[in-house]
Amino acid sequence: MTTAPQTAPADALPSELVQRLLPLATAGSAPSVEVFAPATGAKIADLPQSDTADIEHAFVTARKAQRAWASVPVRERVAVLRRFHDLVLAEQDVILDIVQTETGKSRVHAFDEVGDVAVNARYYAAQAERLLAPRNARGVLPVLTRVEVRHRPKGVVAVISPWNYPLALAVSDALPALAAGNAVVARPDNQTALTALWAIEVAERAGLPKGLWQAVLGRGSVIGGEIIDRADYVDYTGSSNTGRTIARQAGERLIGCSLELGGKNPMLVLADADVSAAAKIAVRACFASAGQLCESIERIYVHDNVYDRFVTEFAAHTRELALGSARDYSYEIGSLTFQRQIDTVTAHVEDAVAKGATVLAGGRARPDLGPYFYEPTILADVREGMTAYREETFGPVVSVYRVGSDDEAVEQANDSAYGLNASVWSRNTTRAREIAARVEAGSVNVNEGFIAAWGSVAAPSGGLGISGGGRRHGPEGLRKYIDTQTIAVQRALPIAPLPGMSEAMWAKTMTLYFGVMKALRQQ
Ligand code: NAD
Repeated sequence: MTTAPQTAPADALPSELVQRLLPLATAGSAPSVEVFAPATGAKIADLPQSDTADIEHAFVTARKAQRAWASVPVRERVAVLRRFHDLVLAEQDVILDIVQTETGKSRVHAFDEVGDVAVNARYYAAQAERLLAPRNARGVLPVLTRVEVRHRPKGVVAVISPWNYPLALAVSDALPALAAGNAVVARPDNQTALTALWAIEVAERAGLPKGLWQAVLGRGSVIGGEIIDRADYVDYTGSSNTGRTIARQAGERLIGCSLELGGKNPMLVLADADVSAAAKIAVRACFASAGQLCESIERIYVHDNVYDRFVTEFAAHTRELALGSARDYSYEIGSLTFQRQIDTVTAHVEDAVAKGATVLAGGRARPDLGPYFYEPTILADVREGMTAYREETFGPVVSVYRVGSDDEAVEQANDSAYGLNASVWSRNTTRAREIAARVEAGSVNVNEGFIAAWGSVAAPSGGLGISGGGRRHGPEGLRKYIDTQTIAVQRALPIAPLPGMSEAMWAKTMTLYFGVMKALRQQ
């Protein structure tokens, strides 16, 4: 592992920037909390916290702003997204510094978030008008019944987002909600609140009406319920356990929710895979943001014929990774974000090793680089009964398994309660697609790790099983934020017996009509 000396660790932000962003949150009534930079442990800010009155104020303000926004033509709404796209790219150095400082990740992984926001802004700017256009539907009596389906925004959408991809997850789900005519009350994680506040500031400079995108601050377990009590829809990203709590609370109020939860994502390297390409991309797929990525690969099933070559190349690439937190692109892997993250990673590796697993690369913390650095780690001989076998590590740890056939690879890949992302490697993409269809995951990447599916934002992304039931990206990523309203206009004749017609004759006539419609193959 390369450990060249670092020049400027990402551990502080200009106080002028912090003081400019903090007032954008509707917060301050509850005692503030201190937030520290993972790279060195230096303090970033005293973060104001929201109490009940703040949360109420945020929702009242958002609701008022939403009523006006809903009547703004979609074309004008998406013009804001276009300007937002340009500003984010133009001012990326500022947000890259904020994301790195708050999360400890490397600049290259912070840039992935900038890219994510840009492509989502562009996609929904281009598609929202079409997706929100009213459409006609066939009436019960053709010609006489005219039916139109309209779309109505939900109202105020709560976006509760975690700390690991703070820009992508707080912003890319808010953009389609806003394009659809909703207001958003964001609850970014305390650790990464400045990232969300920066996005709100930029959106307002791009023309978003003030008050429409609010932020409240606090621990989810403290203020989550208060937010859900006031929201018209909840978009939640986080662990499967918390997802259950959110679903219960949303269910109690009979409001919708979108749940983007955890993963224990498999990669399948088939016998005919391009082994070198797979070994190279596996590094990115396993260790992006030091493995603190819901889509990252934590299990790799490799066909016996190519196992030794794959493992040798993958371990060699992994050992070459440069660890550091400087604000430039010289380091590939940054720090973990919290003490509890390094505790989990350490516990999973120690448990596996104590029970007989072999460390092929990494396997230790690096306090010499910063409090939460951990070497990208490859384990072999991981078995049922070891924590890392089934539980999500959410850190830079992957287990490799030797399999005797493609069927065995599929069977093992599917032996998990999660179903978020998967990756299949084969030179025969037709076969790989057939295998992909058998893998129980919301997205499957052929000859890629996660970026091919994740970055293709015209297609939906989300999980199966305990990875959640929500979808972001694509038409689904916007439609979840709207309700449909059907307006049916009956003309000339009522849908009832004509004057003098008995109910029995009406039933006979309609039976005939139903038969004719079926014969004509009409819906
Ligand atoms: P977590 O569930 O403990 O916390 C995630 C967020 O939820 C935090 O910001 C927390 O404050 C908030 N939260 C906690 N309890 C809450 C409550 N009762 N109401 C409202 N909010 C509450 O998870 P974590 O370990 O901090 O985050 C990592 C998890 O998130 C991993 O499981 C990861 O896979 C998942 N994740 C999923 C996706 C996805 O798109 N599927 C993306 C990123 C992270």
